[in-house]
Amino acid sequence: MKNVSDYFGCMVFDDRVMKATLSAEVYQRLRKTIDEGAAFDLSVANAVAEAMKNWAVSKGATHYTHWFQPLTGITAEKHDSFISPSPDGGVLMEFSGKELIQGEPDASSFPSGGLRATFEARGYTAWDPTSYAFIKDRTLCIPTAFCAYGGEALDKKTPLLRSMEALNRQALRILHLFGNDEVKCVRTSVGPEQEYFLVDKEMYEKRKDLVLTGRTLFGAKSPKGQELDDHYFGVIKPRVADYMEELNKELWKLGILAKTEHNEVAPAQHELAPIYATTNIAADHNQLTMELMQKIAAKHGLVCLLHEKPFEGVNGSGKHNNWSIATDEGVNLLSPGETPYENAQFLLFLCAVIKAVDNYQDLLRLSVATAGNDHRLGANEAPPAVVSIFLGDELTAILEAIEKNEPYKGTEATVMKLGVDVLPKFPRDNTDRNRTSPFAFTGNKFEFRMLGSANSISCVNIMLNSAVAESLKIYADRLESAEDFEVSLQAMIRKTIKDHKHILFNGNGYDEAWIEEATIKRGLLNYPTTADCMPHLLDEKNVKMLTGHKVFTESELKSRCEIMLENYCKSVTIEANTMADMSRKQILPAVEKYTLAISKTAEMKKRISSSISIGLESKLLEKLSLLAEQMDEKVSELEQIMLNLRECEEIKEESCVIRDRVLPKMDELRGLADKAETVTAEEYWPFPTYADLLFSVN
Ligand code: ADP
Ligand code: MG
Repeated sequence: MKNVSDYFGCMVFDDRVMKATLSAEVYQRLRKTIDEGAAFDLSVANAVAEAMKNWAVSKGATHYTHWFQPLTGITAEKHDSFISPSPDGGVLMEFSGKELIQGEPDASSFPSGGLRATFEARGYTAWDPTSYAFIKDRTLCIPTAFCAYGGEALDKKTPLLRSMEALNRQALRILHLFGNDEVKCVRTSVGPEQEYFLVDKEMYEKRKDLVLTGRTLFGAKSPKGQELDDHYFGVIKPRVADYMEELNKELWKLGILAKTEHNEVAPAQHELAPIYATTNIAADHNQLTMELMQKIAAKHGLVCLLHEKPFEGVNGSGKHNNWSIATDEGVNLLSPGETPYENAQFLLFLCAVIKAVDNYQDLLRLSVATAGNDHRLGANEAPPAVVSIFLGDELTAILEAIEKNEPYKGTEATVMKLGVDVLPKFPRDNTDRNRTSPFAFTGNKFEFRMLGSANSISCVNIMLNSAVAESLKIYADRLESAEDFEVSLQAMIRKTIKDHKHILFNGNGYDEAWIEEATIKRGLLNYPTTADCMPHLLDEKNVKMLTGHKVFTESELKSRCEIMLENYCKSVTIEANTMADMSRKQILPAVEKYTLAISKTAEMKKRISSSISIGLESKLLEKLSLLAEQMDEKVSELEQIMLNLRECEEIKEESCVIRDRVLPKMDELRGLADKAETVTAEEYWPFPTYADLLFSVN
């Protein structure tokens, strides 16, 4: 087999290919666009398109597509072939700069939340030159943004790019104040760790709930779950190892730096982490990773479940967003420096993050809100729905000392004055691996852990970048007009710590007592469900901040709120309907069939001799009949609620009914069905059980 270095990135139109296939001038122009966001003209685009096409055709590609991320949460592509008729009756392979820069998918069925009237349904796609084009399934894929003709964003990439630009703008102001005049550009990087489940394809196909909703809506606990922790970091099973090997290879061909993989806590659960990349590229790569995970699983007779909570009673799957800010010179602004001056700059960026997370807790919470993820947050396996920040003991102590103007133990009893003399050399605190904090500082980056496995990382990073840009803007405004830079800097850092320390928490985030302390004593927000948090997207302070940095327009925000609530309602509606269907067509008939078998046994026993006991049969019959009757009632109640749901006029109202009536009813129904499962003979149960699903892949 070839070395990885021989094929890594072989399907990517990356810097190596650009250098080799573009003229020096075109290469320089494109590089300037990629590195500094400089504008380019059509002649450059034409030359790039020509080179891209020749390269793609040499790799066997016949089609191209503008690859984009509509608000459905998955990626979309519409394939056009390169062919164009030639006068002699043959074909030419053609691809122009215009086709590279802009496309017009017929996109009337993508959600727009009312942004685009159907009569002008065509959105357009626009090339994102900072994310490399790649070949997938013989198609040249060009990463693009997707907008309506009025310019409103209809995708997740556009606001992400805008938020990166907002952060860049404000961070540069701060860096210039610190005298870093050489820095041209500041970017955020993300390394998303991705969890997933693998189940056997044949078993999966026997479960309507998995097929239709991605999670099990029924299923009694397996006799063995995750209690032994014997799966965590355990030996990877051969079938899974084969899968991972192929997955890695395909990801590497696409230039995706898949780096680590291991078994997770739950049986059948695994994790894949890439090496971090610039945020918009990381977002593209994460979408591609999720797509390939599912595609390659099918080749191995497996199904990759990306749902946040496929199984009750065992851990769900999340995604960790490791996030940092760096300059084009490669300086990580979240890394404590070597000199007091660097440390003052670090502290200011740290404070900007603390202030941002505190002021926009709601935006962070709602950026991960989906019906699926609601099952995880706060369920003692994932961080709670309350946002707090973990800094570790050392850094917390330093901030406390600064706030109180007291000596810090590491500084030999000198009071710290920022930016001047004795700011301490910060110890890199990597020892504490607090895993229960939603937002943890891990030495030189922050790890946001509330994301669900199926979430696009774009949403979180849009909010994070924008909120931090806002803090930096406030700082820059003040510092630029300050009479004494150092005095003003010191005052601002101290004020930030004082105002926002209530969000700092180093303890156990899974603890019940924490939620009480967080909400009651500290006044932090707690929005347990999507229905609770999503409407806050339109709170005045949030609209002001996001429109102020030109990340969203007000109508874009309204449409997004609408779409997210719609997704929530639709997902749960499909689940409720699937439950009713499975109850009526599979579970109740199975229970009836088993009941009949038991009655027959009892009858036979009685016929043979009246002295044979039918105690067991009687008990079972009683239990099963009662459960079946109760189930039937619950299904009827659920169906009635679903009928009434249609009368809701507003999506917000509907989401509240889903939260307050549909989901609890689904839980009740499930409780009865799971009980029935435990008293029904296995051969009668109509679909694979939890034990089958969780321990089937070897
Ligand atoms: P953990 O202990 O959480 O596994 P790792 O150091 O292995 O931490 O990193 C986890 C993820 O964080 C990886 O995807 C890695 O590439 C990413 N990461 C590391 N450094 C940075 C950084 N400076 N910015 C963003 N992501 C980073
Ligand atoms: Mg991690």
